[in-house]
Amino acid sequence: MTDTQSPAATIKPRNLVERMPEYHPPLAGRTALRLDFNENTFAPSPRVIERLREVTSEGLTRYPEREPVEQITAAHFGLAPDQVLLTNGVDEAIHLLCATFLEPEDEALIATPTFFMYDVSVQLMTSRLVRVQSDASLEFPFERFLAAITPKTKLILVASPNNPTGSIIAREQLLAIAAAAPHAVLFVDEAYFHFHGESTLADIATIPNLIVGRTFSKAYGLASLRIGMLAGNADLIRYVRKVSSPYNVNGLALDCLPVALEDAAYVRWYADQVAAGRERMMAGLRELGVGYFPSHANFILMKIGSKHKQLCEAMRAHGVLLRDRSSDPGCNGYVRITIGIEDHVTRGIEALKLSLNEIGWTPANK
Ligand code: PMP
Repeated sequence: MTDTQSPAATIKPRNLVERMPEYHPPLAGRTALRLDFNENTFAPSPRVIERLREVTSEGLTRYPEREPVEQITAAHFGLAPDQVLLTNGVDEAIHLLCATFLEPEDEALIATPTFFMYDVSVQLMTSRLVRVQSDASLEFPFERFLAAITPKTKLILVASPNNPTGSIIAREQLLAIAAAAPHAVLFVDEAYFHFHGESTLADIATIPNLIVGRTFSKAYGLASLRIGMLAGNADLIRYVRKVSSPYNVNGLALDCLPVALEDAAYVRWYADQVAAGRERMMAGLRELGVGYFPSHANFILMKIGSKHKQLCEAMRAHGVLLRDRSSDPGCNGYVRITIGIEDHVTRGIEALKLSLNEIGWTPANK
């Protein structure tokens, strides 16, 4: 298409779309050891692959049926089916929440640094995104966050454990936030729940403005299938269901979720691998003199300093991908490393030792 044919000069998107930030995950070239995106580094339950082998040609011609799997999922979590919505990953869940609840004049509240998709999805709906920045500890700024709630706050998005810091928000603090903002939806993103263990899922029975998100991309190892879940008060979930496409979750993901949920031993094994690997990685970092934030998730945020880019490049040359978080607010010089299964942690530590040495990094570089 030539410039004269391009509609860009005459057709503009909504103002908010023009102004919203873009999220650019690398979409190619990830053939190395993936310690960059906090996925499961290994595999889902073997039952998932068995289930995929049973997929038929005729099965692929059908529109997917979300409702029966929602019933199974709700029962698995001790919830009623109308309290649960399956989504195309938590990414879509965040988008749906913003589209459901945010008017252009409403405020949305987040604590930074945090998951960047909150920025993107909120700013699609309103320009009034209020960010409360953590101090140097990168812990959740509870008091200042509470103080930032206003009568205009409509949606509050927090992750516990948080990405990229690995820090958590105590359940009591989350309940206090919900109580301080009864006119707003509190979304608690529990994408990394399995690596921490504390949850507010049971609180949806008593907290009417609480919605919890869970992904099956991390501990369950289904990132490629794109499936996540929202759970909350049935009235609120009904609004979100109205906004979602009836076929938002694909049939393969719906086929696999029940067998993945059944294999609790597998998820426990993977979470145990991460817990042990996280200890080993932290010990390795201490030995190397690398500062880090104590993490409750399947990754660790390391304090590298001015050589952050060089470290990522050196690691890539050793076949290990890391994620430079330097452009996150308050994270200049920080690099994140995902914790996977035992062998992957070992390879990560070995590559770190070599790479830090090669780039001439010393603890003084921090
Ligand atoms: N929430 C947080 C805090 C995340 O870190 C991620 C993954 N990067 C997601 C949600 C997205 O998860 P999903 O794969 O289910 O879209």
